[in-house]
Amino acid sequence: MEQFKKYSIVADKNMDIVTAGDPFLTYIGMNELHNMDQIVPPQDMIQLRNAVFAIDPGSFNLSCFRIRTSSGKLNWIAANITKTEGREGLINMELSDIQTLKSDSPQIRLDEMTGLLNKQTITDYATALTAMYPRKQFYFCLMDIDHFKSVNDNFGHMKGDEVIIDVAHIIRDCVGENGLVGRIGGDEFMIVLENVTDKPKCREVLSSIRETVESKYKEMEAGLNITVSIGTAFYPDYADDYDMLFKLTDKMLYLAKTKGRNRYIIYTPEIHGDVNAELKVATATHKKAAEKDKLTLMLRLMSQFLHETEIPIRNAIEEVLVAYDLDELFIFYGDLNKCRYGIKRVDLPDDKYQIEDTQNDMPFLADPAFMQLFDDNHTAIVNIFDLNKDKHAQLIEYMEKNERRFMVVYHMVEARKTGYLVYINTRENSRRLSESDINDLIYFARMVELTSSDR
Ligand code: GH3
Ligand code: MG
Repeated sequence: MEQFKKYSIVADKNMDIVTAGDPFLTYIGMNELHNMDQIVPPQDMIQLRNAVFAIDPGSFNLSCFRIRTSSGKLNWIAANITKTEGREGLINMELSDIQTLKSDSPQIRLDEMTGLLNKQTITDYATALTAMYPRKQFYFCLMDIDHFKSVNDNFGHMKGDEVIIDVAHIIRDCVGENGLVGRIGGDEFMIVLENVTDKPKCREVLSSIRETVESKYKEMEAGLNITVSIGTAFYPDYADDYDMLFKLTDKMLYLAKTKGRNRYIIYTPEIHGDVNAELKVATATHKKAAEKDKLTLMLRLMSQFLHETEIPIRNAIEEVLVAYDLDELFIFYGDLNKCRYGIKRVDLPDDKYQIEDTQNDMPFLADPAFMQLFDDNHTAIVNIFDLNKDKHAQLIEYMEKNERRFMVVYHMVEARKTGYLVYINTRENSRRLSESDINDLIYFARMVELTSSDR
């Protein structure tokens, strides 16, 4: 788990500063600070004041707001606020800069096309709200444009892009100060209604999104019927953690689609049954078993690798493909025009599948722009929605043509010949590959690399 930058400050009930340490002053780039309103924008100040006002002495409250930092940028802060008993009127704030999760660079945090938060940022944000604050309450929503493929098919990709951008702006305007919005897929959005805890307010926001989208296109453009479907669930009442909240909400989105689209559905146990209990047992047991299987597999491969110096690569990649729920896996070695190994998982009825050999050309492997995506661990994590359209045109074309959503590419620089190991997901579940799964896949790629090196 990555660490946030954390600071402690003390203020009085008017938000006049009593104590702010040097690290915090450095963080905001000021020599002294008199009142929080010098660094918190006015609309967020209301939120902070409300949170402070609502606390009883001896208890705590949680709030999220933005602070202007030394770079001049506004960073999102999660604050744990306490009013200490005895010290009448004094407010202690533990501030965590959740913006420092990955990087300070706004390009890495925003979706280039819409200017909304990108998938990583909004996911980190929602996860931080659920993981750090079990008492934090909020509505969580997943939204998807209805029949969007037909917009592309009938009006072209450019028009499609325009619609995505328009819809993004409508959501942002309707959500306003009630929360944050991110784009998590081509026509998919995540909405974290961080400041909404009552159902009527949630309905108001979601209805306004649904109605605004529908009426905008009805009035403006003949033939273009754009509507959206939204699934919603309340945290923490119906989910224990982010994973469960996401799955529950995803189910509600699916329900909204199957019930005829152009609607929002808020999970209500009395109406939708105990989807949650099913999910709880299923995810908890399944997760445990799956995690244990992965660990057992990795340990076995590692010991085979250490003791036998060779791992039976063919078997190993099949096992990795299945354990990590991947769709395809390719190894390029020496000749980048032809893959050495390629396997794919083919789904059969009744939840069964088989593994088949496959081939795939990856011309982007030779593209210098592609090399820029690799990090210090020789790994590139490629999500089609996060790629720069101009810079990675070749890669995007490849991904669209081959319907790839997500790839982890490991560059084997220490092998005798240059090589790549490419993990691919094409299905919806690609967004559920966790950080620890990705790390395991990198370890495995490293093992493959070392078996083919002159060590
Ligand atoms: P549904 O109502 O079930 O959501 O139907 P749909 O046609 O919207 O299906 P789905 O959401 O699965 O399809 C999303 C499509 O969006 C797939 C892809 O061709 C397209 N797409 C993804 N990203 C972009 C993009 O950046 N621009 C454009 N124009 N199209 C995109
Ligand atoms: Mg869609």
